[in-house]
Amino acid sequence: MEFTVFRVLGQRFRLRTTVTALAAGALLTAGCSSSDESPGEAAGGVPVVEVGKLTTCTHLPYPPFQFERDGKVVGFDVALIDLVAKKLGVEQKVLDTPFENFKTGAFLNSGECDLAAAGMTITDERKKNVDFSVPYFDATQALLVGGKSGVRTLAEVKERKKKLGAQAGTTGESYAKGQGFDPVAFESSDAVLNGLRTGQVDAVVTDYPVVQEWLKDKAVADAFVLGQNIDTGEQYGISVKKGNDKLRAAVDRAIMDARADGTYDKLYEQWIGPLPQGRS
Ligand code: GLN
Repeated sequence: MEFTVFRVLGQRFRLRTTVTALAAGALLTAGCSSSDESPGEAAGGVPVVEVGKLTTCTHLPYPPFQFERDGKVVGFDVALIDLVAKKLGVEQKVLDTPFENFKTGAFLNSGECDLAAAGMTITDERKKNVDFSVPYFDATQALLVGGKSGVRTLAEVKERKKKLGAQAGTTGESYAKGQGFDPVAFESSDAVLNGLRTGQVDAVVTDYPVVQEWLKDKAVADAFVLGQNIDTGEQYGISVKKGNDKLRAAVDRAIMDARADGTYDKLYEQWIGPLPQGRS
């Protein structure tokens, strides 16, 4: 696993110049291959965009699925994709990209990344642009409210005309819109939490596992409470470029093997918490 974070198209994109220079160098050495060809091939003939790597597009931070700790990108999704990389005999490299990218599949289509992992829900709309792995995580939506806001449910948020926030382009935002809200849109999960902290909004709708992670922080738990846990029945998937069946099959295999041999449960306990009751 390579830990350097490359941020693409963000304000924070250190090392971008180096990457471009390296890429240009690689093209020259390769004698300019056509843009459609994959530069590399991993075990089992799986195409990869960079020789020896499995390049993951994500959107940071999204704890506990992907976040930076001591300068490294770690988390449940990162650990899961490491399993795929290991089977393919390559190393994972993580790129931080705009969230919008996950819907359009732009960075998969342009050959910037092999796959996207971002605590991302499988939706019919996204399926039009990307192919998804088998589901690897069941999620719900959580309503997090200020402890003293006097509201605990979406109905009360509406009734009392409180301000609601969500992360732009997420299923949480769509859910809120579907309930008749026009939520304040934040660019990332930390901006969502910050919006709540600074009083820009009184409540936010975000994936429950993320809220659960936030609440492990005493300062957050002292100020905010979980108002509602809403069962939207959503499931996370890893996306690949449309038609990249070889890589999709490799991801599916890694997920299914991890579920069968106990690795999945170990990673769940390590990154998320105790396994849900009724499961081993
Ligand atoms: N699961 C949500 C979605 O897919 C949020 C993902 C995220 O913010 N990284 O929209």
